[in-house]
Formats: sequence, structure tokens, C-alpha cells
Amino acid sequence: MSSPITSKSAGLRVIVVGAGAVGLCAALFLAKGGASVTLVEAQGRGVRAPERRRAASANAAGMLGPYSEALYEGSNTHRLFFRLCAAGHAAWERLLLSYPLLESGVRDTGALLLAHSDADLARVMRVRDRARQAGAVMEWTDGLPDDLDPRLYSLRVAGALRLPDERLVDVWPMLELLTELCIEAGVSLLLEREAARLAVRGGRARGVAFEDGSGLVADAVVLSPGALAPPGLVEAAPALRLLTPAKGILGRVRPAAPGCAIEETIRTLSVYAAPLAGGDILFGSTMETGRIDFDPDEAGLKQLFQQLRRALPGARFEGPPRFHAAGVRPMSPDWAPMIGPSGPDGCYVACGHSRNGWLLGPLTGQILAAQVLGEPIEDLWAAFTPDRFEKKAA
Ligand SMILES: Cc1cc2nc3c(=O)[nH]c(=O)nc-3n(C[C@H](O)[C@H](O)[C@H](O)COP(=O)(O)OP(=O)(O)OC[C@H]3O[C@@H](n4cnc5c(N)ncnc54)[C@H](O)[C@@H]3O)c2cc1C
Repeated sequence: MSSPITSKSAGLRVIVVGAGAVGLCAALFLAKGGASVTLVEAQGRGVRAPERRRAASANAAGMLGPYSEALYEGSNTHRLFFRLCAAGHAAWERLLLSYPLLESGVRDTGALLLAHSDADLARVMRVRDRARQAGAVMEWTDGLPDDLDPRLYSLRVAGALRLPDERLVDVWPMLELLTELCIEAGVSLLLEREAARLAVRGGRARGVAFEDGSGLVADAVVLSPGALAPPGLVEAAPALRLLTPAKGILGRVRPAAPGCAIEETIRTLSVYAAPLAGGDILFGSTMETGRIDFDPDEAGLKQLFQQLRRALPGARFEGPPRFHAAGVRPMSPDWAPMIGPSGPDGCYVACGHSRNGWLLGPLTGQILAAQVLGEPIEDLWAAFTPDRFEKKAA
């Protein structure tokens, strides 16, 4: 996995702004490629920032769903998105092989897509056909799989697609593990410092400036600030102006009996349910375009819980559902990330990961590092540079 240290990359000073899943992976791959990296993060880490509210990565479900995400594809979705997600899955596999330590933050839950109506069935079958074409390990059943209890899942299931290779990240431990890897790779962490502006001289990004007038100098700057970047950064990089925030909330319930627990991540068109390490079920999520608050939303939670009950009609729970987390996703116009140069020379973005920043984090790190360090770019990667929109807008 490690990129060769070239004379071009050795000593190149790079600032990465934002230590969410995307920024951490970008910093890690840049450092492995030989750059001298400083990761600037507005919030703290671990106990110093118990909620890390602003980072969507800290408030996500953590599903690595390269195939099942195609359930939600719409007419705007980037035409190569499915291929990017499959490549994202392969990048996670490589990362886990290179750093077995990360295994403790990932669980092999697999995913089970359930169709309850003809419309759902058409969607799930489309995912099945795509996954088959991509050579994914999968299992299709007309109706509920035999090994599942029909009293829990209902016999009304019209079709089910099992994707055993899909995984689940425990987002908090994984953020810590990635941070540790960055430190080991030589990344300098600058915590609780918000980059207010890009410093530009002679038409080139030269670093970042902070509110107190101080600054940090670099040869290149990578912006991965998620959905909530300050205006001074948004002005500098046109790609950041294309992002739309979309709040999502997650709920949590405890199954009342072992027979009500789930072992796989369950997905329908309207809800997903993931098994947490202690046995609770995490379920989500709303998609509230334009909202940037973190309020626990009782009405949204209730609605999601109703959908969960439809997916698991036989389940009994200990007590009412609880609010688990709220995060703000950085949505791009085609729900696919923007990775590459944007704004003045030397300024790059890794942004707009929409619903899939965890899935696409390691691949993004790899692509971004190749761009900044002047290494070869695969055709698939080139399709996700920000200029796909910037050219249209010009
Ligand atoms: C409810 C919900 C469920 C989700 N489920 C999944 C899922 O199952 N699987 C999946 O792959 N994805 C999921 N996502 C999407 C995923 O969380 C995002 O795509 C991903 O977190 C984006 O990562 P990021 O690093 O770009 O941004 P963020 O995680 O938001 O991180 C950005 C960081 O930048 C920092 N920052 C911002 N501005 C500055 C500045 N000026 N100076 C310094 N630091 C700054 C912020 O403090 C923050 O820590 C989910 C999202 C939500 C909300």
C-alpha cells in the first residue's frame, strides 16, 4: 500500500484541514507517500471532544455498503458511482491488510436487503444484478431466507439479497485508530484550531490563516472540512460552494429478548438497522436537506422507528427508542465525492462524500495523495475531480 517516496514528494509540506474520516485518510496516505503533513482540526479528539458534533463521521452509522448503497441511486447519481463504491470497498480491504490494528474497529456483519413490495423488489433486484456483474459475493432468495425467523421478519418479504462482505465500522474507535495511524506515519496534529482562510500569494495556495492572525505555511492545502466549512474557505474553493448540507438522525433500541436481536445490517428502502456491539440496534436515518442543526428530532425518530417496526414486525424492544446522534452530511450535486484541485494552484478538496464518507475514505486518501504527489491517476479516479461541475458552471 505504501507509495514510494519520490524526490518530488519528499518534504512537500501539505496542510489537511478537517480530521473527519476523509481528512484522516487523506493525511495518512499523503504522509505514507512522503509528504510532511499537518492535520488541522477545529475540534479536539477523544475525551477532549466528547461529541465531535461537527464531524459527520463521528455521528454516522458506519456502514461500508458498496453494493447496497445502490438502493438509493437516483437520476442525478454519478454514472460511475457504483464502480467507485466497489473500488472503495477494495481500498478498505487493502487498508485492513496493511494495518491489521484497524480490524478492531470493523465488524463483519454483512448486509441483508429486504423487499416488501413490487417497487422495492425491482430496486433490490437491480442491486442484485449490479452486484453480480461486479463479482460480489451474494445470495438471493425469493422470499425470506430460510435461516431467518419469519416471526421476526415477516413472511411478507418478497425477495432478499444477502451481501456477506459488507461491513460495519464502529465510528468512534475507528476515528481514534486512524488518528493513531496518522501520528505513527508522522502527521502533526493541530487540534482545536479552526482554519479561517486559505492564504494565497501569487495566485498559489501558501497555507492557511487562523482567526487570531497567525498562519501556517505549506506547499499545498487539502480542504476536507465536511459540510460546515467557514466562509473564508468556501470562498477559496469553488467545489465547497457546491455542497448542500443534509442532516440525518440515528435512533437506538435494545431488543427485549435474544430472539429479537439482529446479526446482519438490515436495509429496506426506508430504513436501515445495524447491530451494535452490545446488542442494541442502531437505526436510521433521516435526510433533511438544508438543515445544519444537531437537535434530537422526536418526530423524525418516531417516523424512523415505525419504519423499523415494518422491517422487523415481530421484534419487541426494552423501552422506547432513544435518540443516538445527529450529523450533517456534505452532499454533492451527484452524491459522489469531489477529489482534486479546486481554486488557486496548490489547493485541493476532498469533499462532498454525501452518504458514503466512511466507505470512500481510504480510496479518497489514495486518490488525493496521488494527485498532490504527482503520481499516476486511474481513469475512474479522474471522473471524480471537482471540475466535472466547475466546467459546467463556468
Ligand atoms: C446520520 C448519518 C449516517 C451516516 N451513515 C453513513 C454510513 O453508514 N456509511 C458511510 O460511509 N457514511 C455515512 N454517513 C456519511 C458520512 O458520515 C460522511 O460522508 C462523512 O462523515 C464525511 O466525512 P468528512 O471527513 O468529509 O466530514 P466530517 O466528518 O464532517 O469532518 C469534517 C471535519 O472538519 C473539521 N473542520 C471543518 N472546518 C474546519 C476548519 N475551518 N478548520 C479546521 N477543521 C475544520 C470539522 O470539525 C470536522 O471534524 C452518514 C452520515 C450521517 C449524518
